[in-house]
Amino acid sequence: MTHWRRAVVEIVVIGLAAVMAWIPLRPDVVETWFSTGLYPPLQQIVTSLSNVVPVALLDVLCVAAIAGVLWILTRAVVEVRRVRRVGPVINALRVLVTSAAVVYLVFLLLWGLNYRRLPMSERVELTTGAVDPAAVEKLGVETVEQLNALHAEAHRDGWISSPLEDEALRRGFVSAQVALSDVQPAAPGRLKRTMFGPYFRWTGVDGMINPFGLEVLSNPDLLPFERPFVAAHEWSHLAGYADESEANFVGFLTCMKGSVATQYSGWLFLYWQVSSEVDAEARGRLSKSLAEGPRRDLQAIATRLRTGELPWLRTVGWQVYDEYLKANRVEEGIRSYGAVLTLIVKARFEPDWTPVRRTQAKP
Ligand SMILES: [Zn+2]
Repeated sequence: MTHWRRAVVEIVVIGLAAVMAWIPLRPDVVETWFSTGLYPPLQQIVTSLSNVVPVALLDVLCVAAIAGVLWILTRAVVEVRRVRRVGPVINALRVLVTSAAVVYLVFLLLWGLNYRRLPMSERVELTTGAVDPAAVEKLGVETVEQLNALHAEAHRDGWISSPLEDEALRRGFVSAQVALSDVQPAAPGRLKRTMFGPYFRWTGVDGMINPFGLEVLSNPDLLPFERPFVAAHEWSHLAGYADESEANFVGFLTCMKGSVATQYSGWLFLYWQVSSEVDAEARGRLSKSLAEGPRRDLQAIATRLRTGELPWLRTVGWQVYDEYLKANRVEEGIRSYGAVLTLIVKARFEPDWTPVRRTQAKP
């Protein structure tokens, strides 16, 4: 490629990435063209393909990216020493910046634009006004009742180690999606192990999706009763619900619409959420009314987190994720996780946890 042609390509790619990072896109346009247009068929293909690859594509991509960067830099340094000019280093930097711009554009086109789609509040009917703390505690009471009631049967039925093979959870995932949108339901992903497993353990991360392979990566230490909800949460991301509170919401509905064992997993998740939201007194009341079985399971989760975590790395890791969410226009950052309670408390449900859809999205 001639010099000027290469420069034009670089300017166009970097400029496009900068424009896409800053331009305000209308959520209804993103919803129509991307989240319910281009994205669903793309997700079906990419996730179905990554499901048959036994290793995490993210690991392969990261190793390739690190090797590529090292190769470009090493070659530049060797050249600089040979020609005794800084030209090769500048060239290398141009290649790296352009590559970063390409990676960002691919991220947006494969998944990242979902951060800018219509929010759940445009999809389901929500009551107006602030969340009533009494309603949150009431949800907590229901959570405890459900945990106490379901514990024995859930443990008797047990949990399939691969949530992808759990027919009830898959059915729940389809039914939760159908309740929220008219597009073809997303394909669920296999929970994969990754070389980042130790990082998940140290930072207390349960799982993530790889936006470049639309695959699910999970913490290797998850307990059997945690796996259905973690899978359902990550599948919800695959279904284009990028926001954490929305993925928690769809993940919770998925568990509710599955089996007793997946429901138990969903309620365990909700117990954590409620108990971190209510005041100390209410937390004490809820904790006291837990039966022996669910209490043991919650303690096992707490022990798993405590023994695996490196507190300083956990703080840094979540700060980085907070910045990432804010860069993707999730203003609440990681606090958006807890906003799931707002959705559950304010949404109106038909029996079987089917949220009432808004008849028409606001223009
Ligand atoms: Zn998530």
